Amino acid sequence: MLKTHSCGELNKKLVGAEVELAGWVDRRRDHGGLIFIDLRDREGIVQVVFNPEIAKAGHEIASEMRNEYVVSVSGEVALRPPGTENPKLPTGEVEVIARNTAILNPSATPPFYINEDTEVDEALRLRYRYLDLRRARMQTNLLLRHRVVKFIRDFLDARGFVEVETPILIKSTPEGARDYLVPSRIHPGKFYALPQSPQQLKQLLMVAGLEKYFQIAKCFRDEDTRADRQPEFTQLDLEMSFVEQEDILNLIEELLTAMVQSVKPELRVMKPFPRLSYAEVMERYGTDKPDLRFGLEIRDLTDIVAQSDFSVFRSAVAEGGKVKGIYAPGCANYTRSQLDELNELAQSLGAKGLLTISLGSSAGSLEDLTMEMVRSVAAKYLTLNQVKEIARRLGANIGDLLLVIADQTELVNTVLSELRQEMGRRLELAEPDQLAFAFVVDFPLLQREGKTGRWGPMHHPFTRPRDEDISLLDSTPEAAHSWHYDVVCNGYEIGGGSLRIFTSELQRKVFRLLGYSDSDVDGLFGHLLEAFDYGAPPHGGIALGLDRMVMLLAGEENIREVIAFPKNQNAADLTLNAPWPVTEEQLAELHLSLREEK
Ligand code: ASP
Repeated sequence: MLKTHSCGELNKKLVGAEVELAGWVDRRRDHGGLIFIDLRDREGIVQVVFNPEIAKAGHEIASEMRNEYVVSVSGEVALRPPGTENPKLPTGEVEVIARNTAILNPSATPPFYINEDTEVDEALRLRYRYLDLRRARMQTNLLLRHRVVKFIRDFLDARGFVEVETPILIKSTPEGARDYLVPSRIHPGKFYALPQSPQQLKQLLMVAGLEKYFQIAKCFRDEDTRADRQPEFTQLDLEMSFVEQEDILNLIEELLTAMVQSVKPELRVMKPFPRLSYAEVMERYGTDKPDLRFGLEIRDLTDIVAQSDFSVFRSAVAEGGKVKGIYAPGCANYTRSQLDELNELAQSLGAKGLLTISLGSSAGSLEDLTMEMVRSVAAKYLTLNQVKEIARRLGANIGDLLLVIADQTELVNTVLSELRQEMGRRLELAEPDQLAFAFVVDFPLLQREGKTGRWGPMHHPFTRPRDEDISLLDSTPEAAHSWHYDVVCNGYEIGGGSLRIFTSELQRKVFRLLGYSDSDVDGLFGHLLEAFDYGAPPHGGIALGLDRMVMLLAGEENIREVIAFPKNQNAADLTLNAPWPVTEEQLAELHLSLREEK
């Protein structure tokens, strides 16, 4: 090695030691006689002093050094002169008195500061990702990610799980997204699909008798990129035989709790993780991935206002919709423009409008409320009793602001869920150091698919219906529930899984329900149905989004911050500049020709 120590490990105990260091120039200060270099490597930063009286040649070389030059230094560790210690730096009590030094490689002036955590345009960061990754924040994130993966491997190994790699060139696995396709050279006109997940393969591993499988698996879904979504992402994928739902939930609860404890002990986790039914979270939070760090729960007000004189309420109810609301503590004084902002948010999500009801100005007990204190366009249509009942249902008092939406149930839920999130943010209700994990369970088996109106799986087609609901599949499939569960945390879905169907008969039945013809099923999934006929054990599993998990642990708000080389919002890799055109020869080999875009 060109170094005996890393910069970050030097401390008082090493005073007097001769060390060799190598790294990057983080900063250089020329104080006339002395030159100070902050030398940085992965483990930290240490101050190096070049004194012309101790090392003349070294001092001359140091005067050539600029930020991001790669240099080596040898010298003696010394205590800094009293009064010059830097308590902000872990190595701040010491410095290295340089004797020899060399510039191993100069650097062009970087397009942004490496030594400062300043805002930099993301396109620039991604283009020069290797420089961006040199910055402290990204180094910390990548190291954290490494520790998470290492923890997972050790944890599961200790519990009898076997890591098995599954192929990347496979046949489409339906997880509800568009596939990335790879044309076959050897089989003209045929395509591999990149796995949306290793779902079918891990199930086949259960048929194969592996019993406990896991993998840190790359998954590919051709969907629009978002803050918490990438075209290619990583899952902790696992599957177990001979299990019931609680076995898997307990394992995941233990894994996540122990992981946080190990890699980020300063974060707080509530244990046991609540198990909430899908119906319950939709009712209370309007979403299946609620942020449970704060209350502001949604309440149904339909029964209170159905008979009111306010036409907005009456018509929503007449059309089969609902009136629901939340309250914002202490926000009765919101200005017109603050209320307009909330209204715009509601409208951008599809609501016709947001009804706000301000209760007085300063805080007080609901008993003292008078109609004069109520500010709302609906005020003249509501009685004092109705307003009080609404407020009581929402848990509000004088001084609070009520946010009410009247519309079709689904829309009401969506809008109130976002408003709840927004008020949580504005009022800083969520503790930043808390991870509020929960399991959402008891999902319906099916949902109507947006575009076609056909039945689609709520999770995926391999999810096992609840035993007692199997008979409903023939009569009222929409009423059937399944053994599907999600893990949520702080408003994100961080994973999902299910117990699986393990007989070909039931699997065929579910495929038929989903509108597949028998011949499609044989073509697309024949391998799995056949495997089920050779002694498939009961099994189930789950997949956790590794990127999202690390994002939450790192306190980041975008998964790109915890992925070394992510795609940008436009699904492009700006570091390598992909996608990129291919030659006519390459296309011809693949039996492809490009269509003119109209
Ligand atoms: N394959 C599923 C997914 O990617 C997870 C599972 O059911 O285990 O969401």
